[in-house]
Amino acid sequence: MPSVTISARGEQRVRSGHPWVYRTDVVDVQADAGDIVRVLGPRNRTIGSALFSDQSQIPIRMLTRGDVEAGPALLRGRLEQAIAFRQSLALDATAYRLVHGEADLLPSLIVDRYDAWLVVQALSQGMDRLLPDICRMLVDLTGATGILARNDPKVRALEGLEQKVEVLHGDVPESVIVREGPVEYEADLRRGQKTGLFLDQRENRDAAARYARGRLLDCFSYNGGFALRLARQCPQAEAVDVSADAVGRIRANAERNGVPHIEAREANVFDDLRRLERAGERYDTIVLDPPAFAKNKASVANALAGYKEINLRAMRLLTPGGYLVTCSCSYNVNEDMFEDVIHQASVDSHVPLTVVEKRMQGRDHPVLVGVPETYYLKCFILRRVE
Ligand code: SAH
Repeated sequence: MPSVTISARGEQRVRSGHPWVYRTDVVDVQADAGDIVRVLGPRNRTIGSALFSDQSQIPIRMLTRGDVEAGPALLRGRLEQAIAFRQSLALDATAYRLVHGEADLLPSLIVDRYDAWLVVQALSQGMDRLLPDICRMLVDLTGATGILARNDPKVRALEGLEQKVEVLHGDVPESVIVREGPVEYEADLRRGQKTGLFLDQRENRDAAARYARGRLLDCFSYNGGFALRLARQCPQAEAVDVSADAVGRIRANAERNGVPHIEAREANVFDDLRRLERAGERYDTIVLDPPAFAKNKASVANALAGYKEINLRAMRLLTPGGYLVTCSCSYNVNEDMFEDVIHQASVDSHVPLTVVEKRMQGRDHPVLVGVPETYYLKCFILRRVE
């Protein structure tokens, strides 16, 4: 069996529960790109088995510990567990995540369900090689009508893998209608962001619906996620996104869901918030769900400034008693840092706020204890007090 030897520091990291070993902790490689390898410690003791990448900054992603074999039976068992967990959640939705990579002990594999179709992503050389087997197992376990590989994320380039979108099984239509609670969406699995929808916000949209009222402003709304859920209880509703395509989808989704009063506009949220402030506008409910501003450690300082600016401006637009639902999906900005940004924005805007709820990504996107990278989405529901 191919093998990779890691340093004492790498071994320590694995023993502390983390599945990744960085390039700097790899000592010797007797393996080819994408192999399942035996991972050896500095004194040649077997630590476990892993997916190996010869180009990534993360050459090792652990699959098993000790002598447990990482064969087809183990992979199938993990897929079964992941699927059974989602079934046990009895989610009121026909679109949700079935496999969330590391947190389902299937590192670098994403599987999202959209009604009868699955969208998969293999984000490492090892998982890419296993994908045909995994695809067969998924058909067997779920009876999926079709499986689409959305293998176009940029991280694949870091693995030296081709970026491509292809049907791996059956037929996959141009668009799929899915339901999330009371809201129906048309999802474009081939061209939509992520695998089509932002499934990780489902439970936060539900939570926001417990408070939303009055005049609503949904910023960074993509195809309307929050606005569609909240507009039925907000007589006035506006949705803002910089993408013309997204704005078109919001309009179509608003008609479909019987909330045609949502006004969708194509604008840069930074400019739009400034304009609304100058115009003296006020809102009772504001949602901020920006894209990840900190894609890496180097961009954290700029990201924090960006989060502070939009939060500060949104706070100024909020009526007393109004709610701000504010999110960050940058895992490089952790919960404490995000809370600090909210604090600074509250001080500078002179808007006192209480924290009504602190939330994270939905339960179908679990966080693996000891692996901070799997806790990426923060969502705070704040209330302006006076
Ligand atoms: N709230 C959405 C998901 C938002 S994803 C949901 O619940 O489904 C982030 C969105 O922000 C993307 O649609 C992207 O087009 C948009 N975006 C990125 N930068 C922006 C900017 N400066 N102004 C407005 N929209 C922006």
